[in-house]
Amino acid sequence: MAEAKEKNEKKEKLFYKQKNVYDIISDEEKKACEAYAEGYKRFLDACKTERLGVKYMISLAEKAGFRPYAFGSPVKAGDRLYFSNRGKALTLAVIGSKPFAEGLNIAAAHVDSPRLDLKQIPLYEEGEIAFFKTHYYGGIKKYQWVAIPLELYGTVALKSGEIIDVAVGNGPGEPQFCITDLLPHLSGEQMKKTLADGITGEGLNILAGSIPDKESEGTDRVKITLLEILNQKYGIVEEDFISAEFEAVPAFRAADIGLDRSMIGAYGQDDRSCVYAELAAILELEKCEKTAVCLIADKEEVGSDGVSGMKARSFERFVRSLCDTQGTRIEDCFANSFCISADVCNAFDPNYPEVSEKRNSAKLNYGVCLLKFTGSRGKSGSSDASAETVGKLRALFDKNGVTWQMGELGKVDQGGGGTIALLMANRDIETIDAGVPVLSMHSPFEVVSKADCYMTYKAVRALYNS
Ligand code: MN
Ligand code: MN
Repeated sequence: MAEAKEKNEKKEKLFYKQKNVYDIISDEEKKACEAYAEGYKRFLDACKTERLGVKYMISLAEKAGFRPYAFGSPVKAGDRLYFSNRGKALTLAVIGSKPFAEGLNIAAAHVDSPRLDLKQIPLYEEGEIAFFKTHYYGGIKKYQWVAIPLELYGTVALKSGEIIDVAVGNGPGEPQFCITDLLPHLSGEQMKKTLADGITGEGLNILAGSIPDKESEGTDRVKITLLEILNQKYGIVEEDFISAEFEAVPAFRAADIGLDRSMIGAYGQDDRSCVYAELAAILELEKCEKTAVCLIADKEEVGSDGVSGMKARSFERFVRSLCDTQGTRIEDCFANSFCISADVCNAFDPNYPEVSEKRNSAKLNYGVCLLKFTGSRGKSGSSDASAETVGKLRALFDKNGVTWQMGELGKVDQGGGGTIALLMANRDIETIDAGVPVLSMHSPFEVVSKADCYMTYKAVRALYNS
C-alpha cells in the first residue's frame, strides 16, 4: 500500500494533468460563469454581422465611459478610448500608467463570421418565384445552409451619399428567408454526389417572395412586388443593390444546449466568443499599468485583407498616434508589447475522433485553449509562438486562476487553418493564439462550453491586469 501511494505521489509530481473546469470551479465562480453566459447570449443575438457588432460594442463602451479617440490629442493614464474603423472594426483602449515605450497588452479577435452575401445584382424571378443570388463569405459547408431560417442585414450607400440600414428577420413577427433543398423522394442523383458537390455555390439562392404584381403585365411581376416593398420601406431601387452590402445569416437565437445547460448554441461564435471575452474584460478595467488594447478585426474569414482587415495599417495609425504624444517610436512600443490572438479552435468531437490527435486536442470544459501554432502541413502559415511566450502565458494563467489547456487544429496533415496571430507577430509583437474550443465550427449553429467562454474572459482579464 505504502509503495502504491509513493508511486501515485510520483505521478502527482511529474505528470501534466488537465483539469475539467467543473471539477475545480467554486460555486461562486460557477454563478459568475452563468451570469457571463447570459450577457454573452444577448451579445450574440444583437451582433450577427460585423457592423452590428461594432455598433453594439460602441454602445456598451460609451456606457462604460469610453470616448471616441481624437487622433493626435494627448492622453493620460485611465483614459478610455475607442476607434471605429469604418464601422466594421473596432479598437478599444484603457491608457496605462506606464509609458507606451514599455509596450501594450493586446487581445485581438475578429467580429466577422462565415455567411452568405448577396451579389450586386441579386434579385431575379424564375417560375413566378423571386430569389436573391448569393456569394458565400468565408469557409462554409454549403449543404449546411439550405433549409434553415435566415435573416438579412443590409447597408445601402445611395448616390446621394445617404446610408440606409436594412434589417429583416430579427425580431418577433418579422418575415425570414431560406434556401430550399430537394425532397428525399427526388434526390437519387443528388445523394450520389459528394458533400462538397451536392449543393453548389450558385445553387445558394435565397427564397425572396412569390406574389405577382396584379397591375403589371409580362414577366418578373413578383420581382416588381418585392422591389415595391423595398422602395416603400427603404426608398431604394434595384440599382441601389450595386452599392450595398447585404448579408444573410442564420436566424437562430442563441440557446443553452444540454439538459445541464452547460453549452451555448448560436451562429457566429467563431469568433464572437472571443470578441465578447475581450470586450467584457476591457469594459470592466478601471486602471492598468501597461495600456490595455482590445482589438476587434474584420475580414479574418477571408484572409484579413482590405481596409478593415488586420493586414491594413489602421492599427498602426492608432498606435502611432498614441506613441507620438509621448515621443515614442511605434517600433519600440510593438517590440515590448504582448498579444493574445483570441480566436477559437476546434474542440475534440467524439463523433469525429479520426481528425484529431486526442492527446493534443482541445476538450470541451477544459478551459481556454492555447495554440502554440496553427497553419497546415509543416506549420505553414503560422507564427509559431516561442517557448518563452507560451511559458509567460502559462505562468500568468496559473497565477490568476485561469483554467487553460493546450491544443492544435487537428491531426498532422489533416488540414489546418490560420488566425491573425501571424499578422500581429509580423509587427514584432510577441503573440500567441488562445481561445474558445468550438464544436461544429463554421456551421450555422456552433456550440461552445460556457466554462470555456468564461475562462477565456478570465484569460484576457489576467493579461490586461499584468
Ligand atoms: Mn476565427
Ligand atoms: Mn473561422
